[in-house]
Amino acid sequence: MEIGKGRLLRFTLMGGEARVFLCDTTGMAQLARDIHHASNTCSAAMGRMIAAAAMMGVNLKSEGDRITATINGGGPAGPLCAVAGPDGLVKVTIEHPEVELKLKENGKLNVGGALGKDGQLTIMRSFGYGEPYLGRVQLVSGEVAEDFAMYYLESEQTPTVCALGTTVGEDIIASGGILIQAMPECSESTIEQLEIRAELFGAISQLLQEMTLEEIVENAFRGLNPQILEEMPLKLECDCSRERIEEVILSMGPKEINKLIEEQNGCEVTCHFCRKNYRFTGEELAALLKAGLEQTDEES
Ligand SMILES: [Zn+2]
Repeated sequence: MEIGKGRLLRFTLMGGEARVFLCDTTGMAQLARDIHHASNTCSAAMGRMIAAAAMMGVNLKSEGDRITATINGGGPAGPLCAVAGPDGLVKVTIEHPEVELKLKENGKLNVGGALGKDGQLTIMRSFGYGEPYLGRVQLVSGEVAEDFAMYYLESEQTPTVCALGTTVGEDIIASGGILIQAMPECSESTIEQLEIRAELFGAISQLLQEMTLEEIVENAFRGLNPQILEEMPLKLECDCSRERIEEVILSMGPKEINKLIEEQNGCEVTCHFCRKNYRFTGEELAALLKAGLEQTDEES
């Protein structure tokens, strides 16, 4: 495992009757666990989300496109959010990464309990320009995989098998996922075959411990003519910068910024995704505000 890194395969079955994304995101889940000092349950929640978002992100068309996936289920861990793009970059955050729950009766981490299921999965697709596209579904279980499968079914009318898994020990042992989508021309017999194999993927993190991605393709899809179209690297990486944070501060408006200057002579902003701190002195805020106001004058 290389910390922060992952790998994805995109392939088709039966000459295009179904398309599949398969990823090993163990190293990314480990880095997310480290960055957020996450509990086992929240590490699993983030691990599953990283894999789901990565598989959705690589399917976007242009370089600057992004998907932002948010699960807001009202659970004690708070909202879980990931951003991913076609370049394979993913970032993730959860509001209360320290929240830990007892294991479920079947011995699994209680991700659904931590995230809650009283809410929605929201997918925002933003493009380099224009209005973002927003899709929403009611949560099925807050276990992430079922919620994403429901999203694909409801908003894209695509029958989808989505399996995500993260095994946590002292560290992340394995994490990843698979997404299988039946295309409109998919035959009944292929769908049947996929349904039979779907059960196998209930233990996707187990498979990832035992086999490489290529071996999973070969073993799990024997007889379905798998054809690998693309192999791509994935990476957990935040794209925040001081310039971006300045924009966020400016968006608060002059009144709030002046308050920060007068009351605490500066401010400190922490990026939710990588937990990096950005400090601004009162003087820096004043200069920022002045530059911002001048720019607004030019525009108006
Ligand atoms: Zn950041």
